[in-house]
Amino acid sequence: MSEPRVVIIEDDPQLRRFLKAVLGDAGYDVYLAETGERGLIEAGARRPDVILLDLGLPDLDGLEVLARLRRWSSTPVIILSARGEEVGKVRALDAGADDYLVKPFGSDELLARLRVARRHAARTAQGDEVFESGAVRIDLAAHSVLVRGVRVHLTVTEFKLLGELVRAAGRVLTHRQLLTAVWGPTHADDTHYLRLYMAQLRSKLEQDPTDPQLLLTDVGVGYRLAVGDEP
Ligand code: CA
Repeated sequence: MSEPRVVIIEDDPQLRRFLKAVLGDAGYDVYLAETGERGLIEAGARRPDVILLDLGLPDLDGLEVLARLRRWSSTPVIILSARGEEVGKVRALDAGADDYLVKPFGSDELLARLRVARRHAARTAQGDEVFESGAVRIDLAAHSVLVRGVRVHLTVTEFKLLGELVRAAGRVLTHRQLLTAVWGPTHADDTHYLRLYMAQLRSKLEQDPTDPQLLLTDVGVGYRLAVGDEP
């Protein structure tokens, strides 16, 4: 097996050095691009397993780079966003980015996000639909949810919502993505539905629903299902 390849599209030289060092150490072949145009060329030439994309680039908007990339590539893209880029971050996720990191981030967080993105790409290919974490076991095909071995009853809508999170396990899904998938595009802005149903799911699955360990909130963005941090 060849090394996993990552293309990094980032104009900050300090952050580029950090990313190259951490990912090189972790066994990635690292390809760097300082501009959006260069990044698109690298992505086409290197066929990476994952792409890290800064939203604020000197030539193109990161969203424009993502849109152009998505015309021909389904490679997982992780957005690198600065604080204050909340809107751009959510738009990028809605436009097909897989996840995001807010600067500054540490190497553990970076590597964990990359693992999730690559696992997700592999899982999409094989269609694995069983999820286990701590006391919770979810089997989407069998429509079964067990907490400490005891079957939990979910409503149709609760199960649909949980299914979306399981299929994206570890990755954030935006409010809009979840609302569209579960309730349909006409409800894409009805975030109160989500709050209600997430509260119900937490009360059924979490040991302490006020301190969720499994069904996590990404403030201002959406929700994600926590995964264990195994390599
Ligand atoms: Ca930048």
